[in-house]
Amino acid sequence: MQTYEKPVIHQLHSGLMNKFAGAKSSQQRIKSSIAGVSIEALVEQYGSPLFVYSERTLRRQYRTMRNAFATRYPDVTFGWSYKTNYLKAICAIFHQEGAMAELVSKMEYDKAKALGVPGNQIILNGPHKPIETLEAAVLDGVTINVDHLDEIEDLESIAIRLDRTVNVGIRLNLDSGIQPCWSRFGFNLESGQAMDAVLRIARSGKLRVNGLHSHIGTYILDPNAYACQVKKMVAFGYEIEDAQGWRMDYIDIGGGFPSRSRLKGVYHSADVIIPTIDEYAEAITDALWQSVKPGHTPKLIIESGRAMVDEAGTLITSVCGTKRLPDGTRAYVMDAGVNLLFTGFWYRFDVALGQAVPGTPEPSVLYGPLCMNIDVIDEHISLPPLSRGDRLVISTVGAYNNTQWMQFIEYRPNVVLISESGDVELIRAAEDITDLERREHLPSRLSLQPIADPNDLLTDTLRPDGVLTYSGAN
Ligand SMILES: *Cc1c(COP(=O)(O)O)cnc(C)c1O
Repeated sequence: MQTYEKPVIHQLHSGLMNKFAGAKSSQQRIKSSIAGVSIEALVEQYGSPLFVYSERTLRRQYRTMRNAFATRYPDVTFGWSYKTNYLKAICAIFHQEGAMAELVSKMEYDKAKALGVPGNQIILNGPHKPIETLEAAVLDGVTINVDHLDEIEDLESIAIRLDRTVNVGIRLNLDSGIQPCWSRFGFNLESGQAMDAVLRIARSGKLRVNGLHSHIGTYILDPNAYACQVKKMVAFGYEIEDAQGWRMDYIDIGGGFPSRSRLKGVYHSADVIIPTIDEYAEAITDALWQSVKPGHTPKLIIESGRAMVDEAGTLITSVCGTKRLPDGTRAYVMDAGVNLLFTGFWYRFDVALGQAVPGTPEPSVLYGPLCMNIDVIDEHISLPPLSRGDRLVISTVGAYNNTQWMQFIEYRPNVVLISESGDVELIRAAEDITDLERREHLPSRLSLQPIADPNDLLTDTLRPDGVLTYSGAN
């Protein structure tokens, strides 16, 4: 008779010897410098964690993207998406390269104005445009893309007050064949809502439509989605022209080009799944040429964020502590976590060693410094045994982290830029307690009494009922 034996599941650790495969001589990547400057020199001067941007990469990426489009279509302008990274130095570099400012809020509008960007170099998008900002934008000659009907009413009242005709762009949402199909921004094309908005605008007598905008999503891996989008937009532009006699001066397509970072759950390398920028440019400009009327080349505005900046940003982080979890997994506490790497919730970062580390790699977990269970940078990474002070170099982190980073539990660290000649410049200084408390006000009645003698705190007494009381300040 056979006896039943309970099955046992053994966890296989990649990188270690097991019955299915030998220990792989897992090539641990080492990145001991960024843009020619050594990690150790950077940390010595600016501390850890540290965000590092390469100006050469920023400019190269911009020019690659611009050239891909400018060689295929005569009138192309880029709009740098501020929300992706609105550090002044980063914005200034893209403006120097010729990009307009693509803004989605009053705060971003204030930032661009403070940086000295002229109104004719600004595109104002976004679902929340306070009326004062709208009025300032109208006076400033900003390109404004309207998101909803109430905004049309606001613009109409501004146009009446200023007694002038105001040009507006309409933001469209449309089905370009991809999922998810964004519908919350602008007016829906297919349902006729967008044409209703045009009619509403025409009725005002004070506004006219001179451009169309649409942003179909982010991290769009199919260039044909843009082709579909552009054809629908141009066709709608001609419908408006036929109905109202207004010329489409521009077709503004929102961002969404992927960067070369990997989304979680995607196991192919970027080279395999991410089309080149030329493929996007080809699809988009082809669609334009197929749909515009002869002799009419509306300005093509490309709004981009992620694809322009992501690769230029790197984060250096250091091991603060090492531990072993109950299941045997090696774990490290790093000085940077999701507080600085917001994109860590959906990106699988590229993590390299900042120096050679001897020893067999084993599966490890990287935790950040927060006292929060969700603060994990990487749950499954094969690393040699690290010690306190060892550096890890995380990329690509240039997009959406320096805007969405949190001032939560920890201060935000230094950000430096490495110039094309290799100089390192501080572009945002690490925060301290003054940044945290500058806007706070403590009502005087809540002020803590200064403690005359700190030893008072220690003169506690045990009451007969066993309760400990303190006779010091409390
Ligand atoms: C965020 C945003 C962009 C940039 O998007 P990416 O996916 O980072 O390229 C462009 N246009 C608008 C209106 C946006 O809100």
